[in-house]
Amino acid sequence: MEAELKTGRTDPALALDVKRAQAATMLERLLSTVLTNAGVSASALFVVGVSREFGLPAIAWFLAVIASLILRVAMASILKRWETIDHSPQAALDAMTVGALLSGIAWACLPLSLPGFEAIGRDGALYLMMLGIATGAVLMGVGYSPISLAFALPPHASVILSFAFSGSPGSWLLALNVVALAIILIRSSRMSQAIFVGNVLGKLQATALADSLSSANGDILRANYRLKVLASCDPLTGLANRAAFNAALSTCIAEARQQEEQLALLILDLDRFKSINDTLGHSAGDTLLIEVSERLRSAVDGKGTIARLGGDEFAVIVGGPDAAGRSRRLAEALLERGRQPVMLDKQPTVVGTSIGIAVFPDHADTAEDLFVSADMALYRAKDGGRRQWREFEPAFRSQADRQHQIEQELADALAEGGVEAWFQPQIDLCSGKITGFEALVRWHHPYLGPISPPEIVAAAQAANLADRLTATVAEAACRLLNRLPGLGLPQATVSINVSPREFGLYSVTDVLDCITEAHLIDPSLFEIEITEEAILDTLVAGEQLKRIERSGYKLAVDDFGAGHSSLAYLISLKVDRLKLDRRFVAGIHRSRQNQEIVGALVGLGRALSMDVVVEGVESEEEAAVLRTLGCGVAQGYFFGRPMPAERLPGWIESRRALAQRRDVA
Ligand code: C2E
Ligand code: MG
Ligand code: MG
Repeated sequence: MEAELKTGRTDPALALDVKRAQAATMLERLLSTVLTNAGVSASALFVVGVSREFGLPAIAWFLAVIASLILRVAMASILKRWETIDHSPQAALDAMTVGALLSGIAWACLPLSLPGFEAIGRDGALYLMMLGIATGAVLMGVGYSPISLAFALPPHASVILSFAFSGSPGSWLLALNVVALAIILIRSSRMSQAIFVGNVLGKLQATALADSLSSANGDILRANYRLKVLASCDPLTGLANRAAFNAALSTCIAEARQQEEQLALLILDLDRFKSINDTLGHSAGDTLLIEVSERLRSAVDGKGTIARLGGDEFAVIVGGPDAAGRSRRLAEALLERGRQPVMLDKQPTVVGTSIGIAVFPDHADTAEDLFVSADMALYRAKDGGRRQWREFEPAFRSQADRQHQIEQELADALAEGGVEAWFQPQIDLCSGKITGFEALVRWHHPYLGPISPPEIVAAAQAANLADRLTATVAEAACRLLNRLPGLGLPQATVSINVSPREFGLYSVTDVLDCITEAHLIDPSLFEIEITEEAILDTLVAGEQLKRIERSGYKLAVDDFGAGHSSLAYLISLKVDRLKLDRRFVAGIHRSRQNQEIVGALVGLGRALSMDVVVEGVESEEEAAVLRTLGCGVAQGYFFGRPMPAERLPGWIESRRALAQRRDVA
């Protein structure tokens, strides 16, 4: 196959295309070939008529040639109509070859059809015409040599034979010349075909290359577009990503500056997202994020730019007149929508949202500062109990600076003993005996002064030091527990506080087991106080609370009554003690309502076999009322303030002395 020869590889499609090109070229030239042929055959008839007469044989020959030509034209039109070249070009070429052969044979019959034909003499002109037209056919049929040769060779053969058998002197020489001419014709016909095929192949390959280059170019353009989209879009929610958001925020601020308009930025953070992801799986987390993004879209309603900044953090840019007012209304609407449950793992789950708002130019002048300001407001919203929005206030910045300094210096303070535990005693309200102590963290900063425990705890969590903080307090608690038998209090307990968010940060039991084992502490004397918030967040805390129980530590629910603990969950957790929130105790001797609440809670504790501890007892009167209400253990400034461990022996001693004096009296 020509295509194989030329390309050096088997490429049937390419070979077929070459055949098509050959057939199309031959068909295209057929009409001019046929017309020339008809013209020359008419001339030949005329020459015959002049040199002899228009006899029947000559007319018969002419009609035969014309008939072959008509046949070829008819065949050509059928080939065209049937589109044979497209679907089977070889068949078309074969048909045209047969047609050419018929014409060639007709021409070859010319000498034979004339009686008394003189090879050299009066009929020489006819030979010249026969050879001329045969040679012309070869020159015209460069695309496909079989067609041109099928036409050219019969007249040549006829001429050669006529010369060979004419017996005239020199005719042999002429026959040999025509043989040489035929050989040259065959060779040049093949060479022209090879050149033609080479050209067609080159053209086809160039076209294929151009096509593949243009499709590759299309692929590159499409991939480029996808990359652009990916670079600016969050694939899960379809919202803008952080990079696109940063660019949009800068552009919006530049526009707002030019138009002298406000621009508000809202940053949203989902509550408990990590725990949902950890416990219900990532697909539930994804469902939640998609649902939140849909809610955002419908609330913003095309009047702001929405982005997912990463994890469970979203942002909205609100521009135009009264951007601040509209952003507040939007925050309200978003919190309202957030109260509707989302179906996660076939469970309706309510996931709260905290929102921080900052406004350009009131709160910040640049995109970066605006973001930081909104983030500070978000922090306040979360710190203030979540499920709320807060707008930036200038005071946040100095508070944030302070927070930042605390975070920076906490690690050193923990390492160098600047952070320590103080202990507040707990008293049996009936006997007046010391039943235990609560460890409370203290840090007196060299410049900032005393840092409040919530600030220390928040800084520890932000600086990834929460486990070290708990370890520091637990170490101090264990050291005290080991000293208490020597101070005459072998049964006294020591409690530490663990904040709910810590359960999501590290394994509380792993840290505590390590320390209590090193100090050989009986875990039943070691109590862990958790707030109701931790109980509510059952997803993450559940497993950790069970491990606390398995390790044998006592479990207390701190600030009980301030939140909304599930009673069923309280029972399943095997809580040992309920520590009633201070607000029920303050002024209880003057408040009938508080007396009733505390009485009910004491009854609840009793029903659940849980001891009740009252916190914040500041006066004799409060203690007396609490005693009559059946409270077992109390803690408060009235009995003793939190104090460093070194001061405890003196305090215990003075308390004993006081009890003895009372007994004597
Ligand atoms: P809490 O666990 O409810 O601790 C009791 C708080 O009430 C302590 O505040 C204590 O000093 C205060 N208090 C005790 N008696 C009275 C009283 O008669 N009147 C008044 N007004 N207050 C009284 P503190 O030490 O400021 O601790 C605040 C909170 O910080 C604690 O509340 C606890 O939730 C948390 N906290 C303290 N230390 C730690 C700790 O080491 N780790 C963690 N995660 N949280 C801690
Ligand atoms: Mg506590
Ligand atoms: Mg408390």
